[in-house]
Amino acid sequence: MDAVVVEAEAADVANTYKGQCLCGAVSFEAIDLSDIWYCHCKQCQKLTGHYIAAAGVTRENLTIHGDVNWLPISDRSKSGHCRACGSYMFWDEAARDTVSILAGSLNDAAGLEVKGHIFIEEKGSYYEITDDLPQYKGFPSQGTRGEGIQ
Ligand SMILES: [Zn+2]
Ligand SMILES: [Zn+2]
Repeated sequence: MDAVVVEAEAADVANTYKGQCLCGAVSFEAIDLSDIWYCHCKQCQKLTGHYIAAAGVTRENLTIHGDVNWLPISDRSKSGHCRACGSYMFWDEAARDTVSILAGSLNDAAGLEVKGHIFIEEKGSYYEITDDLPQYKGFPSQGTRGEGIQ
């Protein structure tokens, strides 16, 4: 076995992504983070001013340090922001096994790919999607981690 293969395996085992808000009061570690999806839904637009890039992590693989201000988005979901600086980092829907992490809050997203666009039916009229990634009108039926819609 050559050294390059060994290095790649070591990186897979680590697979821990760290992130934090703008001011640093909230930080987190996410193990086995999924790849990134762009979400163009109206909710994401209202929350951030644009579409979002987010990855998913199962709840047991997410460790959060600091004081997160969880705000209700609907009766099903909530958004998590730093109480000090307001950075939007987490989207959590109780019915789902995973929490979404806004990609921009990751300190280093190396190794994550962007898989596609979701909720393009709700996208803003002021921009076009110009890449060749797959596009879905809503949430992909196979899920964003291959988990399907429950
Ligand atoms: Zn902060
Ligand atoms: Zn969205």
